[in-house]
Amino acid sequence: MANRLPRLDWQRGACYLASVGEGEPGDRAGSVVGLMKETVQIKGSALLGVLAWMRATLGVDTRKRLVAAVSRDWSTVFAGRIRAARWYCYGAYGELLATLERELVTPERPGCMREIGRFTGTRDVGGILRIVSAFASPEAVVVRGFGAWGQSYWSRFCDTGRVSLLTHGRHGATIGLYDFPEIAPEHCQLMEGWWEAVARAAGAAQPRVVQTQCVHRDDACCEFRGVWR
Ligand SMILES: [Zn+2]
Repeated sequence: MANRLPRLDWQRGACYLASVGEGEPGDRAGSVVGLMKETVQIKGSALLGVLAWMRATLGVDTRKRLVAAVSRDWSTVFAGRIRAARWYCYGAYGELLATLERELVTPERPGCMREIGRFTGTRDVGGILRIVSAFASPEAVVVRGFGAWGQSYWSRFCDTGRVSLLTHGRHGATIGLYDFPEIAPEHCQLMEGWWEAVARAAGAAQPRVVQTQCVHRDDACCEFRGVWR
């Protein structure tokens, strides 16, 4: 516990700077860099994707309920305007997902992370991949997309973690997410749906992605195995 408290303080500090700081993402190279690099950062667009799902699915007043439900450390982030291009503390994203699972989801909608992943995945990369997939098979798009571009996609949203295409065939692929022990367990579940949306945009029929290894089960990485027709 003694180990964790200073880290929480770092997160609060970095989060405060990220949410009210002057200027744009370039700030990270400025005077706050020593503070910022202590914590994982995620792009505002990732937070906005989840908020867009909430608006589309749960209704317009859920933002207020969210602000009331998140812990005080993060309520200022969600009460204010979130900018797509700005970096935020990863803790805010983890808190958003955990709060959704815990308090905002109704009994009729249990376990919404896969659904959010499909929604945000389509939003994040759907347009780009649909154009590419008009000219190539799903496997070719996956190989090119996650062999060559996977890491740059990931780095656009998160400053920590490394994506690697491990296996691929005509009807499936395996992707590993490395060096990201801080990932929230809800984020792991969300990624199953996110990869499904990416596979669908790549032209795959009925894709199903399951996490087969996870750092929260003491595995070395989070591994996602996808199959499609
Ligand atoms: Zn995992």
